[in-house]
Amino acid sequence: MRTFEFFAVKDSHDAVAVLAKHSVSSKVRVIAGGTDLLAELKFSPQSPNVVVDISRAEDLKSITLTDDGLSIGAVVTHSQIMQSPIIREMFPALANAAHVIGAVQTRNLGTLGGNLVTAVPSMDGGPTLMALEAIISIAGPDGRRQVPLNEFFVGPRKTVLKADELLAEIIIPRRNLGKPTHFLKFGLRKGQALALVNAAASFWVDWEKHTFVAPRIALGAVAPKVIRALQAEAYLEGREITPEAMAEAGRIAIGDAKPISDFRASAGYRRNLVGVLTKRALEGAYALAQAKR
Ligand SMILES: Cc1cc2nc3c(=O)[nH]c(=O)nc-3n(C[C@H](O)[C@H](O)[C@H](O)COP(=O)(O)OP(=O)(O)OC[C@H]3O[C@@H](n4cnc5c(N)ncnc54)[C@H](O)[C@@H]3O)c2cc1C
Repeated sequence: MRTFEFFAVKDSHDAVAVLAKHSVSSKVRVIAGGTDLLAELKFSPQSPNVVVDISRAEDLKSITLTDDGLSIGAVVTHSQIMQSPIIREMFPALANAAHVIGAVQTRNLGTLGGNLVTAVPSMDGGPTLMALEAIISIAGPDGRRQVPLNEFFVGPRKTVLKADELLAEIIIPRRNLGKPTHFLKFGLRKGQALALVNAAASFWVDWEKHTFVAPRIALGAVAPKVIRALQAEAYLEGREITPEAMAEAGRIAIGDAKPISDFRASAGYRRNLVGVLTKRALEGAYALAQAKR
């Protein structure tokens, strides 16, 4: 491991100040839980010379309801998401997604912000938030800016974050509070395995007409970044909720996906999974909608 300067900051303002000071002349990286970055610090030849530890940043640790919606601080860990009464009540899919990340140790240290910034296409934190149209609040030298999550990812391991910026907060907009949502992951094992495909679906139900309202489907590990299945969403909008419609949306979602073959699975296998998981995620969201009615 190369040596580096280390700054442990007390809040996001401190973090932005340190990033602004060092990002011009040095290679600076933020560390939160370190579950991803530590491997890079140990093994990558391009490891940073300055590391900013935000794990003790008090203003990035809360899960709160605000006028904008549900705010989740960047350094909230996966275990905290699983245990949060608000999240379990409003978005059990988010707690389920957190539960399938790594093992207990990874979930105790790993943060939601860190998961998103890695921008790995198979990340488990992304699809549910994308289906809920989450907004990312970014802190930088000029204050805060907001970016929809589907514009936050640029490609594999690439986001819109600049070197002097920090992911501060994830906001699920007020209009989507309590929206029935379901997340599914398919890996080679139940635990400690990256997703071959993961999927989340959410929609409101018009109970009078029994139709889909604002259906959103997000898929992971089937493109260079987590994506929305826009054609499948368009097919479902305003359509009567039936098992056939859900199965057809699954088939259409296959066309939205652009999976590759790798040592874990072939592109064809992943395409089949997209169809199955999309359909099952829609069924799960519908079951939740019925239970909440
Ligand atoms: C054994 C193991 C199993 C895993 N299993 C899974 C899995 O099943 N599913 C899954 O999705 N992931 C998995 N991961 C990946 C990882 O644990 C998660 O992505 C985790 O949430 C990363 O969060 P962190 O806080 O540890 O990030 P860090 O390691 O601290 O940081 C990761 C990256 O994000 C940057 N960063 C972190 N926070 C911020 C911020 N707020 N603003 C700006 N930049 C930031 C860092 O600079 C770094 O580039 C696994 C990792 C390990 C080691």
